[in-house]
Amino acid sequence: MKIKNFINGKFENPISNDWIDNCCPANGEVYGQIPNSSKADVEKAYQNAQYAFEVWSKTTLEERSRILIKISELLETNLDRFAEAESKDNGKPLSLAKAIDIPRAASNFRFFGNAITQFSSESHESVGQNAINYTLRQPIGVVGCISPWNLPLYLFTWKIAPALAAGNCVIAKPSEVTPTTAYLLGEICNEARLPKGVLSIIHGLGNTTGQAIVEHPEIKAISFTGGTQTGAHIAKIAAPMFKKLSLELGGKNPNIIFSDCDYEDMLDTTVRSSFSNQGQICLCGSRIFVEASIYDKFKSDFIKKVKQLRVGHPSDSKTDIGAIVSKPHLEKVLNYVDIAKAEGGKVLCGGNKVSIDGYENGYYMEPTIIEVPNNGGRINQEEVFGPVVTIMPFKTEKEVLEMANNVKYGLSSTLWTNDLKRTMRMNQKLQCGIVWVNTWMLRDLRTPFGGTKASGIGREGGFEALRFFTEPKNVCIKY
Ligand code: NAD
Repeated sequence: MKIKNFINGKFENPISNDWIDNCCPANGEVYGQIPNSSKADVEKAYQNAQYAFEVWSKTTLEERSRILIKISELLETNLDRFAEAESKDNGKPLSLAKAIDIPRAASNFRFFGNAITQFSSESHESVGQNAINYTLRQPIGVVGCISPWNLPLYLFTWKIAPALAAGNCVIAKPSEVTPTTAYLLGEICNEARLPKGVLSIIHGLGNTTGQAIVEHPEIKAISFTGGTQTGAHIAKIAAPMFKKLSLELGGKNPNIIFSDCDYEDMLDTTVRSSFSNQGQICLCGSRIFVEASIYDKFKSDFIKKVKQLRVGHPSDSKTDIGAIVSKPHLEKVLNYVDIAKAEGGKVLCGGNKVSIDGYENGYYMEPTIIEVPNNGGRINQEEVFGPVVTIMPFKTEKEVLEMANNVKYGLSSTLWTNDLKRTMRMNQKLQCGIVWVNTWMLRDLRTPFGGTKASGIGREGGFEALRFFTEPKNVCIKY
C-alpha cells in the first residue's frame, strides 16, 4: 500500500519523491510506503490552507458543525476498515481498535461539531465608565497538529476536530509509524464535503516533515502530542516565533492503592491501567504503590490475573496484549527490564520477548511486573511506555504522596480509597493534570485534559481546546 499526502482535497506523492517503509508490528514485515515529505510539501499545503481559510473561517457554525458530524458518521460507517488499518499499523488488538480507537475518533468529531455551536465569549460592562467590553474569539489561521503512534486516529482527530470547529485550516502530521488511518481520513473528509485545502494531511518523519511544520513562519499555533524530549525541541523552535503551543507529553503516573478500597474493582482496573494497549498509553499507571497491610495479598492476586492475559496476534479475538509498536521500541522496553534488575528490582512475572506461532518476527512481549526497592531508580523515574509496571508497598499517606510527586512528570494519578477526607486532601496535593479516584481513564470530553511539569503545557478537551484554537481580542466600546 502506498500512502499519499492529502493536499487540497487530492492525494499526492511527495514533491521530493522520498519514501519510507511502513512496517506491521504483528509480523515484522514491510507492507507499504509513506511519503517522507519536505518543506516543499508543507509549503504547498500552507498555500492551499491560507486560501481556504478565507472561506472556512467565515463558514457558519451550523455548516461547520454539520460537516464535522458528517465526518463522525462516516467514521462510524467505516468502523471495520479503520479498525483493521489501525490494528495492522500499531499492533494493538483489533478488538481494542474497534471498541475504543475508532469510536473515539468519531466521538471527537461529533463532540466538537456540537461544542462549537455552544461556544461563547465573555462581555464585561465597565460600570461607571459608560463602556462595554466584549471578547471576540477569532480563528488563528493555519495551525499545525502533530500526533504520536500509540492512539493514532484517536489523538490525531482530538486535535484536528477542535481546530477545524474553531474555523482554522489545519496542516496535520500523524506518526510515521502509524500513518494509515490518517490517510484514510482524507477520503472521508472529501465524502463529507469538507472544503478543499481546509485540512492537509502530510506524512513523514518527525525531523523532516514535523520540523517543517513547526518551522513554518506562518503556521501560528502548534498542537503536539508525543514525547517530552520532542516537546522540548519543538518549544525551542516555536518560542522565538511566538507561536501558540499546546504540548501533551510523557507520563510516569502513580497508581495509589489504599487498603480501604473496593478491592475487586481496583484489581480489575489496575490490570487495565497497567497493560491496556500493551501499556502504551500516556495515562497508564506504571508506578503502583500499595498500602503495606494489603501488599502481599495484592501482589499474589495481581500476578495471578496478569499471568492470565494472553499475548497474541492482534486480530485473534482471544488476544489481550498485541504487538509492541516497533522493533526499536520493543528493544527499549526490554532494556528497561535489565535496568530495573540492575537497580535491585525483582521481576515477579514476565520480562521476556514472546514468539507467536506463525508470526515469529513480530514484536511481542510478556506483561511484566517488577517489585522495586524504592521510587528512585530509573525504572520508576523514566517513561518506559510498554507492558511494564512496578509495585512497592507504602506505610503512610505522607510517604506515598511524596513518592507520587517525586518524579519529573505530572500527567495523571489514580487513587483507590473510600476515605473521602483522604481523597480530598490528596487531590489537592497530587502534582498532575488529572486525578482519577476509584476509576481509570473514564473520559468526559468536556473536561480539561493535559499535564503539568514535564508532561506538558496547555489543556485540550472541551472549551479549553476551542480557546486554544482561537485568539481572544478585547473590544472596548464607550457609549
Ligand atoms: P515522538 O515525540 O517521537 O513523536 C510524536 C510525533 O512528533 C510524531 O508524529 C513524530 O513524527 C513527531 N516529531 C518527532 N520529532 C519531531 C520534530 N523534531 N519536530 C516536529 N515533530 C516531530 O513520540 P511517540 O514515540 O510517537 O509517542 C510516544 C510519546 O507520546 C510518549 O512519551 C507518550 O507519553 C506521549 N503521549 C502523550 C500523550 C498525552 O496526552 N500527554 C498521549 C499519548 C502519547
